[in-house]
Amino acid sequence: MIHKNIWSPDTCECQIEFEFDDELPPESREHKASKVIKKCPAHSTTDIIDHHDHYDTVLKENKRKNILLGKMVEAHPELAKIGPDGSKNLKDDIDYIHSFTGTGKNRVLEVEFAGQNFTFLKKHKDKIKEISDTEFGPNKVVVR
Ligand SMILES: [Zn+2]
Repeated sequence: MIHKNIWSPDTCECQIEFEFDDELPPESREHKASKVIKKCPAHSTTDIIDHHDHYDTVLKENKRKNILLGKMVEAHPELAKIGPDGSKNLKDDIDYIHSFTGTGKNRVLEVEFAGQNFTFLKKHKDKIKEISDTEFGPNKVVVR
């Protein structure tokens, strides 16, 4: 059966309705955009051609933010809190501050890590650049 759901990313104000078939096993379920409910100002541009492109653009931004955090937590133990199952997440007293600048499909992610007991060092900034260049290509992420 086809289900519809609404996705609101934490990287912009867009709201996108997507659908998936729950008769397929989870690993082969494809989320397909069915319509854009709300376009944020940054994604109200003509380089985004339709609702599939819109979903793809917003999803890629959201993944860029999440992949970078995941790789940073893997690379720097001082950022990580280890769960009972061995999973690594960002420590509760450290903030991952993220935002995007620009419009359309070429937005740039700006990030920083901050916390009372944490110092954001050059090694962290260098690693952000390294991860970004490797995973996303040049000029996709900047450090604040
Ligand atoms: Zn948006």
